[in-house]
Amino acid sequence: GNTVTVYNRVLLKLSGEVFGGGKVGVDPDVVQKVAREIASVVREGVGVSIVVGGGNFFRGAELQQSGMDRARADYMGMLGTVMNCLALQDFLEKEGIETRVQTAITMGQVAEPYIPRRAMRHLEKGRVVIFGAGSGMPYFSTDTVAAQRALETKCEVVLMAKQGVDGVYTADPKKDSTATKYDNLTFAEALQQGLRIADATAFALCMENNLPLVVFGAEDEGAILRIVKGEKIGTLVSS
Ligand code: UDP
Repeated sequence: GNTVTVYNRVLLKLSGEVFGGGKVGVDPDVVQKVAREIASVVREGVGVSIVVGGGNFFRGAELQQSGMDRARADYMGMLGTVMNCLALQDFLEKEGIETRVQTAITMGQVAEPYIPRRAMRHLEKGRVVIFGAGSGMPYFSTDTVAAQRALETKCEVVLMAKQGVDGVYTADPKKDSTATKYDNLTFAEALQQGLRIADATAFALCMENNLPLVVFGAEDEGAILRIVKGEKIGTLVSS
């Protein structure tokens, strides 16, 4: 590409809901769309790290409600994220984009282990690095992993794709018709207003390390490309 981008390296957080198109499992049409969009960003010369959620398969906290041991349920949740990683890898490669999947739980037949320096090397070579299996640790979320991987692989921003909502609102827009969207927010304002942007651990990591977040709608086609080109989309949360 020959246009100027405002970011050189971004971390994209895709929740499991994005992969399932709101249902259980993987919707190939949705994954293909997302892959095409990511490819367009990579072609602009922007480095892309991706953290993939797994809520379209299992959420540990939900399985716990049905009586499962929380830690074991969380491992199931983490394994679910890896299926999303492989689906995304496949569609990205069909777009001609080189990718590597790195997982926090070792599974040599399907992915590399998480090796930060190697991930950085891939990024430098223009490969997309897809991080799966969360942190490898129960009781964490993939939002927290998104913040951590962004920091460790030197991304300038976390781009949070949300299903069904296109930014941070004064109240839940599905329940309150008077809710309005914020274009910009500081971390302190978000705390004061009690806005839930990510889970508390993820939010704290971003705030303490001055790592900005952009919350935007996963259904908004072309949004990622427009964000990296500097268009104000969704809500920017920063220091
Ligand atoms: N999980 C975990 N440790 C991590 C990341 C994820 O135990 O570091 C488990 C947890 O059970 C979680 C599930 O994996 O519910 C799926 O991840 P998450 O809920 O973050 O996915 P998303 O909501 O983004 O689809």
